[in-house]
Amino acid sequence: MNHHPASVPSIAGQGPGLSLTYGYGTDRGLRRELNEDSYIASDPVFAVADGMGGHEAGEIASGLCVRALAAMPQLATGERSITASVLQQYLVRADNSIREATGARAGTTLTGAVVVEQMGMPYWLVMNIGDSRTYRLSQGRFEQISVDHSEVQELVDAGEITAQEATVHPRRHVVTRALGTGDETEADYWLLPVEEGDRLLVCSDGLTEELGDEEILGILSTVAQPQDAVDALIQAALRSGGRDNITAIVVDARNVANDDGSGTTAPRYASDDGDEVTLPRPQAAVTQPLPGQDAAGASGHAATAGGAGTEGTDSTSEDGELGDDRR
Ligand code: MN
Repeated sequence: MNHHPASVPSIAGQGPGLSLTYGYGTDRGLRRELNEDSYIASDPVFAVADGMGGHEAGEIASGLCVRALAAMPQLATGERSITASVLQQYLVRADNSIREATGARAGTTLTGAVVVEQMGMPYWLVMNIGDSRTYRLSQGRFEQISVDHSEVQELVDAGEITAQEATVHPRRHVVTRALGTGDETEADYWLLPVEEGDRLLVCSDGLTEELGDEEILGILSTVAQPQDAVDALIQAALRSGGRDNITAIVVDARNVANDDGSGTTAPRYASDDGDEVTLPRPQAAVTQPLPGQDAAGASGHAATAGGAGTEGTDSTSEDGELGDDRR
């Protein structure tokens, strides 16, 4: 299998200024025997997969999915050269490997973002298939970027139920698209410019089932360090019942270059010669809970890319808007 799609290596000094700080964690929750969520948090890829299917097949599916993403050569080099079409090729690969391994008995959701560079500017390439979610807190505004592929989302779109009613609907767990199973395996993609101070949240439905948007925003806008925010989100979901596996990744973007190539509102900590490829890379984090292993409490530590310190968040906002009105 060819794991090396054509790509032009980034040239040192021409990349956009951008420092990412992130934290991540997963918890089995209080009711489930297994943790079928998997995730990858390694610049430039941040994604959560929520596996489904009995007899441990769900965790096989989600694990195969994140391992397919981990095979991207950009993870080793830190290049931000991935495009949606290249990403889709890796998702097709994941879909095929899950079908081979489980006979289409199991599937997985996938959502998250890849940091990409186009015309010298950084973007979040957000992807989604299923009902895990990617949110962004940007310039004081909090919104859900991904749109669920679920029966209740279709009912909401058709005007048959409200978003509020969807949160308690008996069929709220039924997804209409997944990798590894079913006929619909195409992901949706969004390309969003990275704004100074952006905070991204990628999470499984075990978080959003327990916490409404206001609770999530309350934590994201008051807890400065990404790892502390992840830990607070998971603890809050556990206090709320922890009925499903809970996984969260929080990514902060700083020193985002604007059109003239300089940082915007935050001071630049990286060397001004832009030779950021020579700086230490963050620890890669790719996890898949092993069968029978108690994955509760598995949690990463904040890693910093691009040489910036883990400064306090300045994207906090008490008056952030909610993307929707659930709970
Ligand atoms: Mn779940």
